[in-house]
Amino acid sequence: MPAQPVIGVLALQGDVCEHLAHLAACGVRAVSVRRRDELAECAGLVLPGGESTTMSRLLEAFDLLEPLRARLEDGMPAFGSCAGMVLLAGGVLDGRPDQRQLGAIDMVVRRNAFGRQVDSFETELDFAEVPGGPVRAVFIRAPWVESVADGVQVLARVPDIPAVGPAAGRIVAVRQGTVLATSFHPELTGDDRVHRLFVETVRAA
Ligand code: GLN
Repeated sequence: MPAQPVIGVLALQGDVCEHLAHLAACGVRAVSVRRRDELAECAGLVLPGGESTTMSRLLEAFDLLEPLRARLEDGMPAFGSCAGMVLLAGGVLDGRPDQRQLGAIDMVVRRNAFGRQVDSFETELDFAEVPGGPVRAVFIRAPWVESVADGVQVLARVPDIPAVGPAAGRIVAVRQGTVLATSFHPELTGDDRVHRLFVETVRAA
């Protein structure tokens, strides 16, 4: 049997353990990443939920920002949830002026977009590429995607119903090449299908 790929979880801040557990359940070697040498060993990287402004500062403090950009430019698969989505975006609205972007997905996100209405929100989403029915999505002070460039695949949107107010129809999951991002937190549910989608991407890369 071929060796299992090593998939890292950026472990500067945020819900690292939950991602490690989901990845391990998918049968890969899941490791925490805080240093450049740890990043170098990974075939793919998860950027967890947490606080994108804090993670941005810590990426610089830990000398990881440029090495991570270089790996992404080189085609390393990545998956960002919530704050991780904000970091992976090319542009951010309602961010802090000093917050840094990795620019791995050609999209603009609005930070804390749901948070203006309610701090957290849950719904069921149809998620393209994820078999087996709707995905339960947990949003916590979440961003949504304001716009995507050509070449970015929209995988999920909030249902377009009046009950969800300004969130109706918003894009909340995308993929560009081997980089995946969700506004919500698949790591906070018992469902590992989104992580499996990412693991398949890493195996195929
Ligand atoms: N609001 C946070 C940010 O901007 C994201 C929140 C989360 O990851 N749950 O980074």
